[in-house]
Amino acid sequence: SQAENEVFRGRPSVSANGVQVELAANIGSAQDAVQAKKHDAEGIGLFRTEFLYMGRDTLPGEDEQYGAYRSAAEALGPDASVVIRTMDIGGDKELPLLELPREDNPFLGYRALRISLDRPQLFKTQLRAILRASAHGNIKVMFPMVATLGEWRRAKALLEEAREELRAEGKPFRDDMEAGIMIEIPAAAMMADRLAREVDFFSIGTNDLVQYTMAADRMNPKLSYLSDPLHPPVLRLIDRVIRAAHAEGKWVGMCGEMAGNPLAVPLLLGMGLDEFSMSSSAILGTRALLSRLNQSELAELAAAALDLDSADDVRALVEQRVPQAA
Ligand code: PEP
Ligand code: MG
Repeated sequence: SQAENEVFRGRPSVSANGVQVELAANIGSAQDAVQAKKHDAEGIGLFRTEFLYMGRDTLPGEDEQYGAYRSAAEALGPDASVVIRTMDIGGDKELPLLELPREDNPFLGYRALRISLDRPQLFKTQLRAILRASAHGNIKVMFPMVATLGEWRRAKALLEEAREELRAEGKPFRDDMEAGIMIEIPAAAMMADRLAREVDFFSIGTNDLVQYTMAADRMNPKLSYLSDPLHPPVLRLIDRVIRAAHAEGKWVGMCGEMAGNPLAVPLLLGMGLDEFSMSSSAILGTRALLSRLNQSELAELAAAALDLDSADDVRALVEQRVPQAA
């Protein structure tokens, strides 16, 4: 219950056998960061910055964005990790201002980093704002919808250009700001071993990873039996991504809905996920659940789940073996 969960306020997020993870919040504005702090988020695992661009007549400039990112970081405190995702316009999120061409398959189209790389000025404005805000907290930048190593490298090169510009202008920023990518396209999950050599971290975006793996539109209620993160093919990709990151000494988070799903948490903990990012209201309940889980037993449970035939079988296995999650 909510009252029982309150006991976990201010406590670290640790499993029954002492394995510590980070519980972070997903936000869409600087104000949400204040709510996240109230719900005892340890950090921000996903700042969806596209909402800064939507529903207005002009694009947000560098100073306005800098202000928003800085206040999010300040709301959480100087040490809290705050992951700012560059804008993810397209798919279901429209931005008429950019006058994007109409597409038959917007989820397979011109969106997110694909737009940013095509419009370097727009992208660099955002990167400069994020870098400047990094002087005020533990900010990290994350690129959405990466499919190839080339896209990551081009994004990284533009980030370096933004750094050089700011250096030349004498504007402060954090030199060691981490840069990572979302893993939400199966191509990137399959290349995670290569990507892990170059990025600072991964965050698994299961909302899109499930949609692209199962070829099922995440908005279509008729396909809900396919839009289930417990499908073994999805679990196999996630397991692969976590292993690939850890083999290179990099941390892995998850910022899709799955990270706050009580039936999924035992499996993700068993696979070794480092950071779980969810809606703020789920944080204390997830911390309470974690405290009742034994990570060493769950590694075996996760391995067994990868070997099952269906999402229903996985659900039944977790319900039976981890009754506290059901
Ligand atoms: C995801 O795809 O899982 C994700 C977190 O990003 P969004 O829901 O914003 O597409
Ligand atoms: Mg996504």
